[in-house]
Amino acid sequence: MSLQVQSQVSLKPFNSFGVDVEARLFAEAHSDTDVREALAYGLEHEVAVLVIGGGSNLLLTADIDSLVLRMATRGIRVLSDDGSKVVIEAEAGEPWHPFVQHTLSLGLSGLENLSLIPGTVGAAPMQNIGAYGVEIKDVFAGLTALDRQSGEMRDFTLQECNFAYRDSLFKQESGRWLILRVRFALDRAAHLHLEYGPVRQRLTEQGIEHPTASDVSQAICSIRNEKLPDPAVLGNAGSFFKNPLVSAALAARLKGEYPDLVAYAQPDGRMKLAAGWLIERAGWKGFREADAGVHKLQALVLVNYGGATGLQLLNLAQRIQKDIFERFHVDLEMEPNRY
Ligand code: FAD
Ligand code: NAP
Repeated sequence: MSLQVQSQVSLKPFNSFGVDVEARLFAEAHSDTDVREALAYGLEHEVAVLVIGGGSNLLLTADIDSLVLRMATRGIRVLSDDGSKVVIEAEAGEPWHPFVQHTLSLGLSGLENLSLIPGTVGAAPMQNIGAYGVEIKDVFAGLTALDRQSGEMRDFTLQECNFAYRDSLFKQESGRWLILRVRFALDRAAHLHLEYGPVRQRLTEQGIEHPTASDVSQAICSIRNEKLPDPAVLGNAGSFFKNPLVSAALAARLKGEYPDLVAYAQPDGRMKLAAGWLIERAGWKGFREADAGVHKLQALVLVNYGGATGLQLLNLAQRIQKDIFERFHVDLEMEPNRY
C-alpha cells in the first residue's frame, strides 16, 4: 500500500480558519490508487473518509472522527486545441490560483475573473466557485468523479452537474462524489467580463484601455488583496454567507425603508441582496468577541484572531443570522461546509 495513514493529526494547517481540531486519521492522496486505497482502508477499519482540498471552505466544529483524505494529486494537460477553443484538464489536488495563472501563461482566457480564489481544482465544482461575474459553469467542459457508493468512475457533462449559485449536484449529494479531475474549455481570443464592481475602474486607474486576460487577472488580484484578509495572516473562509435571493416584493419593501440597500435583479425575477451590506447595516462589521470576529473591512467575512474554536465561530454566525432575520426578514445561508 502506498498510502501513508497517520493518527491524531492536527488539522490547524489544513483549514484556512486555522481552527485547531484533530483528525483521528489523516492521509494525502497523490494518485487515483491512493484514493482507492483510502476508501478501502475506511471500509476495512469502519471509519468514514472525509475528503478535503485546501480547507478554505470548511468550518470544523469538533475533532474529526474520520480518515481525513487531503487531495494532493497533480497534473495539467491540454486535451484538445482547435485553434480557438482549448480544453484543458487538471487533477483535483492542483492548487486553483496557480492553475489559473498557468492557463493565462498559455494565452488562454476564461478563468481570469476567478484569480486568487484559494483551494484546489477538485473542490471548485463543489460550489461552482464564482467571482466578479464569472462562475466555473461558464467555462466548464466536464469532470471525472468516483462514485463512492458504487466504486465506479463517471464522467459528468455541464448539464449533469446541476450548477447554480454556489451550488452543484456534488454539494447536494455531499459525500457521494469524489472529484478526481476537472476540464475547462478556454478561449485563445479573450471574451472579457469587466462589468462587475470595480474591475473596469481599476483598469482605468492603471491606464489600461484595452486589457488582456492577464491584465484583468492582475486587477482582480490587486482588488482582492486590498479587501480580503489573507488566511495565512488572519484565519477566514472567505464569504461566510451566501448573498440571499429574495422576492422582488420584499426587496422593494426594504428599499423603501433603506434607500441605499444593495440589490441586483436576477433573471428569474428575484433580487439578490448583498449579504455584506445587511450585516454591516446591522452593525456587525468589526465586531469581535474573544478571538471570533467579523472582518473590519468586509462584513461578509468571519475571522479567527488566533484561538477561536469552530463552535465560537458558528455561534457568532448564528447570532448574525438571527439578527438579520429580525431586522430585515431575510434568511442568511452559511457558505462553508461544516463538520
Ligand atoms: P475544501 O475547503 O477543502 O472543501 C470544500 C468542500 O468540498 C468540502 O465539503 C470537501 O469535503 C469537498 N471537497 C474538496 N475536494 C473535493 C474533491 N476532490 N472531491 C469531492 N469533494 C471535495 N469561493 C468562491 O466561490 N468565490 C470566491 O471568490 C472565493 N474567495 C475566497 C477568498 C478567501 C480568502 C477564502 C478563504 C475563501 C474563498 N472562497 C471563494 C471559498 C473557497 O476558496 C472555495 O470554495 C474553494 O473552491 C474551496 O476549495 P478547497 O480546496 O479549499 O476546498
Ligand atoms: P463587492 O464587489 O463588494 O459586491 C458586493 C456583492 O454585490 C457581491 O457579493 C456581488 O455578488 C454583488 N455584485 C457586485 N457587482 C454586481 C453586479 N454588477 N451584478 C450583480 N451582482 C453584483 O463584493 P466582494 O465581497 O468584494 O467580492 C467580489 C467578488 O468576489 C464577488 O463576486 C464575490 O462573490 C467574490 N468573493 C467570494 C468569496 C467567497 O468566499 N465566496 C470571497 C470573496 C469574494 P456575488 O457574490 O453574487 O458575485
